[in-house]
Amino acid sequence: MSDAGKPPELQTPMVLKDLAEDLRLYLPYPQNWEVHIQDNGPREYCHHKTPGQDYFHLLLPGEIYVQFGTAKLCLNCAYRFGHLTDDRLHWQNGVRRQRDPLV
Ligand SMILES: [Zn+2]
Repeated sequence: MSDAGKPPELQTPMVLKDLAEDLRLYLPYPQNWEVHIQDNGPREYCHHKTPGQDYFHLLLPGEIYVQFGTAKLCLNCAYRFGHLTDDRLHWQNGVRRQRDPLV
């Protein structure tokens, strides 16, 4: 029997953590966006700089990021620019982008 499709064994025992808040994020306008996990391949950098920093930050192996075309955004920057929201009712509340830096 193949192990394909089964999740890998955990390296450490599973520990249930308390959640201080809902960690789920949503892309209110998901068309043309992709979600990826940075692997150990070539270094990749976020499309944006963190306010107050003068460099593009590195996407670390295992980091989840979103991509629009060739622009890769860490979740913090995607959230900061309004592409991601933690508002589960965004479809009712009419979440608007602060601005669209990719156009
Ligand atoms: Zn970023």
